[in-house]
Amino acid sequence: MQDDATYERVLPKFLETAPDRIERLLAASKREKLRSISSEILKYLNDKNDEPDPDSITRSDGFYHPSELCDCLLKAAHRRIKTPFIYRKAPKGRLRVDIGTACHQFLQGYMRDMYGDGALVEKKVWDETILISGHADTVLVFEGDVRILVEIKTKDSTDGMRRPLPMHVKQATMYQYTENCALGTILYLDLTSRAMLDFPFLFDCKIFEEMMDRIALSEACISRGDMPPAEPTAFCSDCGVNHLCDYWQLDRGRVRPLSVMNALASRSDDT
Ligand code: SF4
Repeated sequence: MQDDATYERVLPKFLETAPDRIERLLAASKREKLRSISSEILKYLNDKNDEPDPDSITRSDGFYHPSELCDCLLKAAHRRIKTPFIYRKAPKGRLRVDIGTACHQFLQGYMRDMYGDGALVEKKVWDETILISGHADTVLVFEGDVRILVEIKTKDSTDGMRRPLPMHVKQATMYQYTENCALGTILYLDLTSRAMLDFPFLFDCKIFEEMMDRIALSEACISRGDMPPAEPTAFCSDCGVNHLCDYWQLDRGRVRPLSVMNALASRSDDT
């Protein structure tokens, strides 16, 4: 099992050899259009290398973010009460995020090429009625104001996937509601095989109500001066408010979510 210090040591070497490695992997792809992803990724990584210290603080906006709402209600509630989020991502984790972001940008650019002004990429979402804010990856708008939500996800492997992950559908459902999209789809890009999987679905009222119940629960806790319970995930080590979370502060040595993260990260070493 590799620890953060190992990543600190191997990351510069990895970045040095990344152009060749990524180029070789993608050259093997039978998908012509995906090959140009390599230059997008490399450009993005190069730009990122020029950025300052990654430890950063972001201001919360007082709204619920769909990705956090279906993940951990305590984290979502901190965003709601405007707690500043402090990120201290390990280099390996940052690299994974950077590659995921580069893949998003590539696919979004591709949709913009295909649909022109009909592709609204990184569509800002802001709904004061249901207290939701965020960015939908892409909303495709067709004639007659037919709107399709497209959420993009990257995975180390999509082997055996027959349906989208429930948390991704929940997240997309909130964007479907705010963007008035009856149809949504989640596009998975497999970082190992470079295959793309597309799972279309219709807006589901039951899922939407379930998410609204979570907001109501959180609001009730906050209004009585309390916070909703923590809902630990494999990504607690990257959580921007884990320094305020009893679960993380008290239990991390025993439950070891970080080791889960490392196991997930090491699986992507081959990509
Ligand atoms: S550390 Fe984990 S359980 Fe705690 S608030 Fe963050 S995501 Fe939730």
